[in-house]
Amino acid sequence: MAARTEIDYALAVKHREIYMALLSRPLRDRLLVTLKDEGILTLLDAHDLRVVDATPLPYVRLDITAGANGLVAHCTGVWFDVRPLVGPEGHDDYYLPVLGASEAASAPTLAHELLHLHDLLALIEQDPSYSERALELSINSVSEPSQIGKSIDFELFKIFAMEPQAYRLEYAMGETWIDVSNAGQQVRYHCATAEELVTMRLADYVRSLERRYVDKFPGHDATIRKAVRRWANHHGREVFGAKAYERIQQVNAQSSWKILAELLRWPSGGQSRTHRT
Ligand SMILES: [Zn+2]
Repeated sequence: MAARTEIDYALAVKHREIYMALLSRPLRDRLLVTLKDEGILTLLDAHDLRVVDATPLPYVRLDITAGANGLVAHCTGVWFDVRPLVGPEGHDDYYLPVLGASEAASAPTLAHELLHLHDLLALIEQDPSYSERALELSINSVSEPSQIGKSIDFELFKIFAMEPQAYRLEYAMGETWIDVSNAGQQVRYHCATAEELVTMRLADYVRSLERRYVDKFPGHDATIRKAVRRWANHHGREVFGAKAYERIQQVNAQSSWKILAELLRWPSGGQSRTHRT
């Protein structure tokens, strides 16, 4: 059998096949040059990028500086024209999941983000419109109040499709706690089970997402609340049961009490803070 050529790569029209081709040894150096030329380092606030050979997938790692908001790692996608690399059958608007990580990112945090990258590829394989929807409907993309419902549907779908297994993996790898900042004090709450960690984190995630929409679309609180309730009930059923939205609010209320109890136990606080997306 002949070695793979550019024409063979052109036939690899499926998203995952293009991903594996881009990250393969013959193409990865050109991929990195292309990403730099596209301005990805500036766009994602990174100082360098490289390919990491990992199991089950190689990936592009962007070296970032841990942010003031505590962000130490994230998984995101970049859009660019892959035709100069893989041939005319490639997409002109290809969505490449990449992983940004700072030196502060722990092994469980990296595993969490790498699982997202893996799951993103699986989501796109099941539904090729996923990347277009991400481009059109993510909270950072939308600008019209008429898009609020569809955008919240998309964001909550994504959260519940990707986060539960990533939090369970972190717990299994030994990161069993939640760090919270409370009135300038750092508090570390240790969860007794993986499900406690999953529900506390997801409930908090849904609450902060709702706040971000309210900040972005002032005066549309009622529409936002209604959409979050509807789509949390829809996408969150597996984690939170039939009345997911009510359960999420209960979990958030309980979390406040747990943190308060922790503060009373350890009034000096002083734990390091990490944050993931
Ligand atoms: Zn995550």
